[in-house]
Amino acid sequence: MSADNQTHATNMPLLPERNPFAEPGEWFKGNLHLHTTNSDGDYSPQATVDLYAQEGYDFLAITDHNRLTDPEDVDGHGMVLLPGVEFDGGRGELGQTYHMVALGVQHEVQRLDAATSQEALDQTRSHSEIVFLAHPYWSSLTAEDLMAVEGYDGIEVFNTTCERGIGRGHSEPQWDNLLTKGRLTMAMAVDDAHFHYWDTLGGWVWVKAPRLEYRGLMDSIKRGFFYASSGPEINNVVFADDTVHVECSPVASVALVVASPGKGWTTDRLRDGGDRPLITEANLPSVHDLIFRIEVTDERGNRAWTNPYKIKS
Ligand SMILES: [Zn+2]
Ligand SMILES: [Zn+2]
Repeated sequence: MSADNQTHATNMPLLPERNPFAEPGEWFKGNLHLHTTNSDGDYSPQATVDLYAQEGYDFLAITDHNRLTDPEDVDGHGMVLLPGVEFDGGRGELGQTYHMVALGVQHEVQRLDAATSQEALDQTRSHSEIVFLAHPYWSSLTAEDLMAVEGYDGIEVFNTTCERGIGRGHSEPQWDNLLTKGRLTMAMAVDDAHFHYWDTLGGWVWVKAPRLEYRGLMDSIKRGFFYASSGPEINNVVFADDTVHVECSPVASVALVVASPGKGWTTDRLRDGGDRPLITEANLPSVHDLIFRIEVTDERGNRAWTNPYKIKS
């Protein structure tokens, strides 16, 4: 890992004073992971971009396997296209490869030839500005595998094609394991669309940025000024005295998930039995000096996830 990576600004928790919901700017929706006919996807790059543009996305990353699909070659219809690649390399303890999504890739790339998992990660970083580990649950990456490499910005907490393909799209336990061990890792929701079946429009990020342009989006992602969703919207997170106030689209529950054994709160725990009415706001007891994150779940089971916070006492 280079000295530059060690001072990487993303390995910091969000703080009340460094909270995307309190930052100026606008929210922009995008998908950070998908494939086209330039690797094993079924749609051409242009057809893929057309689909997401029609659905109102603001930005999109095409991340073909080990190959850069140049955004200059397609019409983005006003979307910002982030140049990306999904690399595979290294070996987990079960023998499986790591899949690493690189964003901000500016040059044609080669397949990784790294000997170790850390070298694979370092090679991926050398091509890009942002790296996140793809689909930990689908890949059966163990807690040891995720701790064994350093220098990535985030992991996929949700991956649509993995969920709809084999029922292994959710990686919350893998993420929380990292957070509990003090590894401050952000989390993305993505489609990883290949179009072999209906694996699109199921996971995305909302990024808070000053305006819709490449540099601002990339900087906001690196700073953690985004949240992931497979359905619900989180409209505000406010810190007041000893509570965390959350505003969101109608959901069945709001949870404050703490990276520490047996700690945390949910709105289910705070209510008096009976029905589970949909709620659009919640006040949960805050925790101090521990890493926590906010997660909301709607009545269909779709979720939204903030990046990790920490409140100093
Ligand atoms: Zn993959
Ligand atoms: Zn992929």
